[in-house]
Amino acid sequence: MQQLKPQMTVMTEQNQAFASDPAGGNPLSEDWSGPFGVGPFDRVEPEHFRPAFARAFAAHEAEVAAITADAAEPTFANTIEALDKAGDALMRVSSVFYVLAGAHTNDAIQEIERELAPQEAKHWNRILMDEALFRRIDALHRGRDRLGLTTEQARVLDRYHVMFKRAGAALDAAPKARLAEINERLAALGTSFSQNVLADEQNYALVLEGEDDLAGLPDFVRAAAQATAEERGLAGKHVITTSRSSVEPFLQFSARRDLREKIFRAWIARGDGGGATDNKAIIAEMVALRVERARLIGYPTFAHYRLDDAMAKTPEAVRALLDRVWQPARRHALADRDAMQALVQAEGGNFMLAPWDWRYYAEKLRKVRCDIDETTVKPYLQLERIIEAAFYTANRLFGLTFERREGIPVWHPDVRVWEVRDAAGGHRGLFFGDYFARASKHSGAWMTAMRDQERLRGDIRPLVVNIMNFSKAGAGEPTLLSFEDAKTLFHEFGHALHALLSDVTYPMVSGTSVLTDWVELPSQLYEHWLERPEILSRFAVHYRTGESMPRDVLDRLVAARTFNQGCATVEYVASALLDLDLHLQQPAAPDAERFDIGAFEQAALTRIGMPAEIVMRHRLTHFGHIFAGSGYAAAYYSYMWSEVLDADAFAAFEEAGDIFDAGTAKKLRDHVYAAGGSRDPAELYTSFRGRLPTPEGLLKRRGLSEETTAPSV
Ligand SMILES: [Zn+2]
Repeated sequence: MQQLKPQMTVMTEQNQAFASDPAGGNPLSEDWSGPFGVGPFDRVEPEHFRPAFARAFAAHEAEVAAITADAAEPTFANTIEALDKAGDALMRVSSVFYVLAGAHTNDAIQEIERELAPQEAKHWNRILMDEALFRRIDALHRGRDRLGLTTEQARVLDRYHVMFKRAGAALDAAPKARLAEINERLAALGTSFSQNVLADEQNYALVLEGEDDLAGLPDFVRAAAQATAEERGLAGKHVITTSRSSVEPFLQFSARRDLREKIFRAWIARGDGGGATDNKAIIAEMVALRVERARLIGYPTFAHYRLDDAMAKTPEAVRALLDRVWQPARRHALADRDAMQALVQAEGGNFMLAPWDWRYYAEKLRKVRCDIDETTVKPYLQLERIIEAAFYTANRLFGLTFERREGIPVWHPDVRVWEVRDAAGGHRGLFFGDYFARASKHSGAWMTAMRDQERLRGDIRPLVVNIMNFSKAGAGEPTLLSFEDAKTLFHEFGHALHALLSDVTYPMVSGTSVLTDWVELPSQLYEHWLERPEILSRFAVHYRTGESMPRDVLDRLVAARTFNQGCATVEYVASALLDLDLHLQQPAAPDAERFDIGAFEQAALTRIGMPAEIVMRHRLTHFGHIFAGSGYAAAYYSYMWSEVLDADAFAAFEEAGDIFDAGTAKKLRDHVYAAGGSRDPAELYTSFRGRLPTPEGLLKRRGLSEETTAPSV
């Protein structure tokens, strides 16, 4: 996942209480003279944020007001560049705040977050709906061919024009006022959605008492459960939480079917438990408000609105891709289900396979089919070595080096910092790694930039963050990853490289500021290197013996890549299809309360023929991608869209006969990792590869091609 940064913001209404500093000054509003201009994480307290935001909003507002007040004819410099330069103070305060809100939050931060969301929306509305400002942008856009712009400048102008039009800048006063209201309400709802999910995760713990409850669990699952218990004040016990990295290994290994069922039900019920943290009413209202907004701007549904500004362009194009993948994935998943049911019978089990059994029996089936299981692989996947592997790959491809830095302010003692240098030794930026799960952190994995690369305000180098939720090993033990965890690390590091290698002039198109169905290409592509023997044989080293992963284990691990892909694809595509269908709905706002989310979900799953033994990867009530903010709303398909591209992009290295081929790596850097959003993504891809790909490479990579049939047990 890639966290979309808070948009350029302006805000005007502050009351005095919001604006007064605590005694002793405010580190957020002082010069950030610390090393590399990193935010004052070592000194900041929650009470500093309100006044700092108030000042930053006011400063940004003044900068924007100066642009519209300029009596001179609009030029690219006095309008677009000026806009792109504005909001520096706000970006800095936001960067500190949102890292804390995501990765190390508390009640005070959550309260500010709830207050801030609608205020930010209001601030942003004022800018994006400013008539005088839009007139200047529109005039420039109409005369763009006569402005003598570079390719990047033309793209920046176009992006501003699209952004303002899509925000409703060209509308009359009445619809504008309604849009502003909708945006503020949506911002507040998105924050509540996300906080409800976090509360459900924090409030649930499966406490394991004694050896009976631990049946089947390998050492590494026990150790992680022990560490979690300690963190939750239950030292000496074992605790499993509904964080994916805690619950999935338990479901894979626990021989206790009753406990598997118990935690599985809690896991998929997040946000759906009734009571104060239930998200169904929030979703209904958000969906209604989104369609209303889309219609005000001139689109029939939110999905049409959302996709018009994506590579995919239309809901039909998205559905065509998802449908192309769904049937083969479903066939493979059903064949796997039958094979697992046979295993249940063979063991003398007298029950039908249920969703909480899938991972447990899949693990057994993998052992049978591929002669490999998680306990064989995991001792070789030490977090420290996988981080090294990610750095090594970046060095071989792009010449980057990483040097650990101490003494830089961070938000939690577990956070580490590296200075990143290019092949010539020049400073490129800082990379922050925050790898371990904790109760104060939202679940999932994401990348964000506390500062983007640009050249408009000087030679600005990026500050890039990866947040993950790996279960931390006990004291003195190395943290071991599953192969999926290791892939997540490579994935987020791929996003980080997109920001670190960015080589553009304008903040508007820097790094990961690109279309959502393009943004997953650099991240998913990077995962391919992890699966290669050139990387695994070097970095997969047994944590006790120090031996490299034996070649036959490595071969079996790579060969097992397509195992269970039917299920994984069904889980994902079901979530993507429901996201699309939900945002093609047209419930009118007054009916929102009668829009029954539970019934919608059930009906949609029945219609697509969802296998009863599989639950969608993200049920709607905790689908943060599409409701905690609007980043991936009607755009969850983006991962698969990007996967069509990454399957084809990696093939370029295979065709060159060397996964580090210098010529291919240079093209990849120039046209993908360094290019940000400076050109249209289809153009960028074509410059790299000479053409656009078809979905066949993706199907083949997932083992779902027509010619591949699922093997029998
Ligand atoms: Zn991602």
